[in-house]
Amino acid sequence: MKKEGMNSVPSYFGSLVFDDRVMRATLSGEVYHSLKKTIREGAKLDVSLANQVAAAMKDWAVENGATHYTHWFQPLTGFTAEKHDSFISPSPDGGVIMEFSGKELIQGEPDASSFPSGGIRATFEARGYTAWDPTSYAFIKGKTLCIPTAFCSYSGEALDKKTPLLRSMEALNKQALRILKLFGNEDVKSVRTSVGPEQEYFLIDKEMYEKRKDLVYTGRTLFGMKPPKGQEMEDHYFGVIPPRVTAYMEDLNDELWKLGILAKTEHNEVAPAQHELAPIYTTTNIAADHNQLMMEIMQKVALKHDLVCLLHEKPFAGVNGSGKHNNWSMATDKGMNLLSPGETPYENAQFLLFLCAVIKAVDDYQDLLRLSVATAGNDHRLGANEAPPAVISIFLGDELTAILQAIESGKPYAGTTKKIMKLGVDVLPKFPRDNTDRNRTSPFAFTGNKFEFRMLGSSNSISCANMMLNAAVAESLKIFADKLETAKDFEKTLNDMIKKTIKEHKHILFNGNGYDESWIKEAEKRGLHNLKTTPDAMPHLLDEHNVKMLTAHGVFTEAELKSRHEIMLENYCKTVIIEAQTMVDMARKEIIPAVEGYASKMAAAAARKKALDKSIACSYEIGIVKKLSALSDEMEQKTEELEKETDGLKAVEEIKEKAFAIRDHILPKMDALREAADEAERLTAKSEWPFPTYGDLLFGVR
Ligand code: ADP
Ligand code: MG
Repeated sequence: MKKEGMNSVPSYFGSLVFDDRVMRATLSGEVYHSLKKTIREGAKLDVSLANQVAAAMKDWAVENGATHYTHWFQPLTGFTAEKHDSFISPSPDGGVIMEFSGKELIQGEPDASSFPSGGIRATFEARGYTAWDPTSYAFIKGKTLCIPTAFCSYSGEALDKKTPLLRSMEALNKQALRILKLFGNEDVKSVRTSVGPEQEYFLIDKEMYEKRKDLVYTGRTLFGMKPPKGQEMEDHYFGVIPPRVTAYMEDLNDELWKLGILAKTEHNEVAPAQHELAPIYTTTNIAADHNQLMMEIMQKVALKHDLVCLLHEKPFAGVNGSGKHNNWSMATDKGMNLLSPGETPYENAQFLLFLCAVIKAVDDYQDLLRLSVATAGNDHRLGANEAPPAVISIFLGDELTAILQAIESGKPYAGTTKKIMKLGVDVLPKFPRDNTDRNRTSPFAFTGNKFEFRMLGSSNSISCANMMLNAAVAESLKIFADKLETAKDFEKTLNDMIKKTIKEHKHILFNGNGYDESWIKEAEKRGLHNLKTTPDAMPHLLDEHNVKMLTAHGVFTEAELKSRHEIMLENYCKTVIIEAQTMVDMARKEIIPAVEGYASKMAAAAARKKALDKSIACSYEIGIVKKLSALSDEMEQKTEELEKETDGLKAVEEIKEKAFAIRDHILPKMDALREAADEAERLTAKSEWPFPTYGDLLFGVR
């Protein structure tokens, strides 16, 4: 936090962002208005105007210490990419001038060949280009002006996560506008989705982190006995934040605020060393950019404090993992939240229709939503007893559920009105929008005026989940609009449609405890998907019904979907293989030698005692030696098996087959090796253990 007398937050908030305030101050009226039009309506910016925007941007960036610029984008690696070019250009007198043209602003040409494309490049044009997304403000990071861009091949195939996200937002906008027109909202120009992602993370000590190859190579611990104290006391959640963490959070907030990121709430999470940071929600593509940037800054600032920020979904076994809650809503340019119940009967009917659109979308495209968050890391989390299950269901709360039931059955609503609800005539009874008493076990929960999709992993880009969600809702809205636009009796058609939607999709509604084993059985009975792992989920991306919907709304081409399917499964395989290799390495080079060393010490101690006096039993030493020797043998055997299995995979070409082989043969062997090693840790002296333990890591930051 800034010290007394230094600048206040409002004075430095967004100081590293080329935002509206800077645009207004540095651009001529004409250029400013054209740029705003481009931002609002996506109109193409004339080259001469682009030159002026670029010049103003460069001057502002240089004034703020920048020497370079980069097109900042989100390739399918899941990280952000940037290639820095300096502004300098030689001048005739031997010096340099700082230059940046409109062309350089609008389009860039990174070398696309080393980014994953999942076969697109074989099928299409080899080169890719980046294209400026003027709706997301440029910002300065270090000494570089970063320009948010989309990344496409020259034949127009998306090679990134932003492009399909923008397309999905456009698809939803188009269909939502059709519906809004039918309800007489003639003045609405656009509908945008907004997201507020709550980000969970772990903070651990950097020195300890560096001693653990598993954390360094894979972001999660692959070995580690449970500490005597875990999260069972439930004393960490919302608990007092330790001073080192407070200092980190203050510094982090400062950095984020300078970048115009509305970091708002922070608190301890359920697990020890786990925390959460939530920004105030904003337009989805901007929220996605901000979240990527936020994850990067979180890690960078941590290092300054000799800490490491872990964004992995499951850094510690037996301790809660980290997720990202995706709070999502739709609103018009006039500020009307379409998921907020209104004051008039018409507004309420409209609200119910949008609500039904989401319910239908989530039910019809359960598999797409599930696979949008599927990664090797998140597989450890979903379905464990702490995160939403792999089954998707919707929580609406008792009141709203009762209202929908009353509408479906045509029976009186037992709440405040005590009469049969007639849409378009009656005002919905006011139901409490209680944000505190909520079901936290639901994967997809209505929280008063937004939905919270809770299955995202902490390291996931939010783009993936939101492009699927937007597309699926666009599809529901399209089906509704097609019907309503041609309806002879609007009100009757609307009524019937809402009733029918509730009837057909109520099986996805579930207000109970999602962690409960009985729910999984019930869900299966209801015919809901239970796609437990990434190999189970990912192939559904190519199901006809999904391909049809996504291509119809222009969110993906078929080739793009094929490539993404390939890339996501490839990521899964690579991740697990690296983990397996890291385990083999740690077991052989660190754990087994340490355990053997300790066993030898104990054996030597026993021998010395016996030499002193034969009658000393030495049962303690001998017992440990026996147990540890057996465990060493077991570890060696399991290591061999794991290594052999991993090597054997090299022969498997087909990606789906490989992913299943990894899931069914590698992961269980990893578990078996870990089990032996964790048991050895239990029996080995702390002083002999080769790296920091769970206790050290989880309780090491004060
Ligand atoms: P929680 O209890 O889960 O922390 P909050 O009400 O604090 O819930 O909100 C969490 C996130 O939801 C924040 O990022 C907040 O900005 C965001 N949010 C609030 N309203 C909306 C909305 N209408 N659309 C999208 N996100 C929203
Ligand atoms: Mg939440």
